[in-house]
Amino acid sequence: MLKLEQVARQYKSGQVLVDALKGIDLSVEQGDFVSIMGPSGSGKSTLLNIIGCLDRPSAGLYELSSQRVEKLSDSRLADIRNDFIGFVFQSFHLLPDLDAQANVELPLIYRGIGAKERHRRAAASLEAVGLGERVHHRPSQLSGGEQQRVAIARSLVGEPKLILADEPTGALDSKTGDNIMAIFQKLNKEQGLTIVQVTHEENIACFGRRIIRLLDGEVEREETVKENKAEV
Ligand code: ADP
Ligand code: ADP
Repeated sequence: MLKLEQVARQYKSGQVLVDALKGIDLSVEQGDFVSIMGPSGSGKSTLLNIIGCLDRPSAGLYELSSQRVEKLSDSRLADIRNDFIGFVFQSFHLLPDLDAQANVELPLIYRGIGAKERHRRAAASLEAVGLGERVHHRPSQLSGGEQQRVAIARSLVGEPKLILADEPTGALDSKTGDNIMAIFQKLNKEQGLTIVQVTHEENIACFGRRIIRLLDGEVEREETVKENKAEV
């Protein structure tokens, strides 16, 4: 599904060059569930931004779904993000004045999909995350875990092949975080959805099939999770 070869990313901070990533090699197959770990400043966000086509490598090769991403124009990158990738964030990023259903429909409005079809697909996405009943609540009327489930439903509604999640449980208590991971595992196992998440929590990383550990912009270690954590 995606392959990075010797990917580097340099930032200019005043006169100083910062090597956020130094020669990352990483392959992710379709149907994988990968957790990226590492201390603050190790390059996790930079790597996720590159994988998500929000940023380009300064050097190296990035191939996503057989396309060489680093050569594409900004508008093609935007197309790939829309067609291919769903994003989930630590702080949910829901619009406060819209109810759950309308938040989930939003990406489909931008794509010009008609009301009836939007409604059908949003309802199916909300059902897939177990939120079939609270669809007319606004974010402020939902718990943190419920808000994150709405955000996951929104990430699913465009039928992406890849879900990218940046600290998806970072704002949640540990039991709620485990429930969110159970949803990811279900989507991964039952729908074959590819998931790449960044987390600093060891017990959250273990819900994945593989753990990539970054240190100072390099892959320090890669592990296969032996016993996939039982579903909660
Ligand atoms: P992490 O997500 O693991 O905390 P980041 O990818 O955010 O790490 O950052 C990696 C390194 O790159 C850090 O030293 C950070 O300060 C630096 N960095 C990240 N983004 C920028 C930027 N836009 N400009 C300058 N330096 C940056
Ligand atoms: P998080 O811990 O949530 O990953 P970060 O602190 O790593 O957040 O970074 C938040 C945002 O700020 C990221 O988009 C990153 O690229 C940017 N950033 C991080 N470090 C720097 C820096 N030294 N200079 C400018 N931007 C930075």
